[in-house]
Amino acid sequence: MTQFHDLLRAERRFLLTGHEHPDGDCVGAQTALSHLLQALGKEVVIHNPDPLAKAYGFLRQHTRFGHHQAAEPLPAHDVVVLLDCSQLRRVGQLGDRLRAAGKPIAVIDHHVGSDRGDGQVCYVDAKAAATGALVRRLFREFGVPLNLAAAEGVFLSLVSDTGWFRYSNADAEVFTMAAELVAAGVDASKIYDQLYRQNHPDSAALLAEALGHASLRCAGRLAIAGLDKDYMDRAGRADFDTDAVLEPLRSMVGIEVVALLKERFDGGVKVSLRARGDVDVQRIAAAFGGGGHQKAAGATLKLTLADGLRAVEQAVAAALTATGGQVS
Ligand code: AMP
Ligand code: MN
Ligand code: MN
Repeated sequence: MTQFHDLLRAERRFLLTGHEHPDGDCVGAQTALSHLLQALGKEVVIHNPDPLAKAYGFLRQHTRFGHHQAAEPLPAHDVVVLLDCSQLRRVGQLGDRLRAAGKPIAVIDHHVGSDRGDGQVCYVDAKAAATGALVRRLFREFGVPLNLAAAEGVFLSLVSDTGWFRYSNADAEVFTMAAELVAAGVDASKIYDQLYRQNHPDSAALLAEALGHASLRCAGRLAIAGLDKDYMDRAGRADFDTDAVLEPLRSMVGIEVVALLKERFDGGVKVSLRARGDVDVQRIAAAFGGGGHQKAAGATLKLTLADGLRAVEQAVAAALTATGGQVS
């Protein structure tokens, strides 16, 4: 047992949070951890920087999700657990308030460098496919059996971060856990339906439009697309998840990097990078102040969309040149 386990045992009121626009790994891991802590007799609130996306609404059946509202006080807590990220600056304004509240911070994360984040105690493994897999390990270490809600949470984490077991991080632990979760009652195809078959009637047109904005650069090794505020506004109103754009772009022969840039309403640009092959997009994202994994990383740029597209193309060109081959 480590300092991390000691903290879990010792403290009473836990506030679970995660990165802005929490994805399936983040909310799945929070779901599972909240049930573990409750089984240990703790008080738990999940309090995120942004609301739970509609696609994850099925989690609410057994688990409560709250989110930051500037006018409301923070939920009372003795300790903060940061899941699927390791820095309070990734938690937006809620992160500033949590920092000011000054309670101890524990991190559960699987990103490169997460042991050097804001956590006073950490439970991290950059080789783990998903944060939810780490929470599954914690259940074992505390000798607590998974209930169905926690099993669904871990399953959501695994499928979110492995692209439904397609990516290279889908290792033996992932498949072993998945088998065990299905045996415990998780209905995989029902979860797939809830995640991907409840799309707005405009979603196909929005996908086509986004793909139409993509262009091939660096001698066909980079696919890059920029989505402006007008597009993001329409996508937001249709609850369209722009991650759907990444995989068709990554599927083309010759592509080594995909870059998707989204103009933010507060100014700036959110960039998502995906790699195929040896390029390390985590290093590219880190150079822009972001981070992630070798094959999936992101950053937020304080640039216009046009300047962001140029800067990212340049950085990817430099990385591709370093791995050898032509970029023009
Ligand atoms: P995304 O493109 O937002 O799906 O992110 C891909 C991966 O990079 C995820 O594991 C994210 O948690 C991580 N990531 C995204 N944005 C950032 C950032 N600004 N700083 C650090 N990691 C990030
Ligand atoms: Mn995440
Ligand atoms: Mn993750």
